[in-house]
Amino acid sequence: MSEAAFIAGDWGTSRLRLYLCDARGSVLARGEGEGASAPDCAGRFAAAVAPWDKAHGVLPAVLGGMVGSTIGWKEVPYLHCPAKPQAIAGAALRFDGQISTFDFRSAASPCYACVFPPDEAFQEVACSTMGVFSPTVGIIGAMQAAEALRVIGGFGGTLEGRLMMLDSLRMEWNTMRIARQADCPVCGSR
Ligand SMILES: [Zn+2]
Repeated sequence: MSEAAFIAGDWGTSRLRLYLCDARGSVLARGEGEGASAPDCAGRFAAAVAPWDKAHGVLPAVLGGMVGSTIGWKEVPYLHCPAKPQAIAGAALRFDGQISTFDFRSAASPCYACVFPPDEAFQEVACSTMGVFSPTVGIIGAMQAAEALRVIGGFGGTLEGRLMMLDSLRMEWNTMRIARQADCPVCGSR
């Protein structure tokens, strides 16, 4: 059996789907847990991957879905999962997509909470009820892949400090400048 290299997860509103993968991305084992809308997602994630932590050591985790959304995202910085210092955030719902890069190697980089404060009121939205224009996910996903290569390769700069928003109904892009907030509850003490 190939050696486990990372954990991939799709964290939907109602379910967490986990995959233990080897370095080539082949699935070695599957797991699952509750969705991102249930409380204590950090604890539930740690519990869900505990058997794999024990068997293989703590592995990097690559998570998609509702991770980083306002549902439960406050817990994410405390997850027991090593991550690269850069986080590339992308989202898509209905006809709206957005992407930015939060590069914590850079002192000036804002974090997700600088842009979307955790105490801001939000409406719980799920792709299963709101729907998503699927090409929007592909466009944002391809841009995330390009951004990841730019970050890893260190060429061409990054999207740090810029939030790009796609309206795929009118097929228009808007770019918003985003700045680090000194009173941010997540990175203010960084
Ligand atoms: Zn912040």
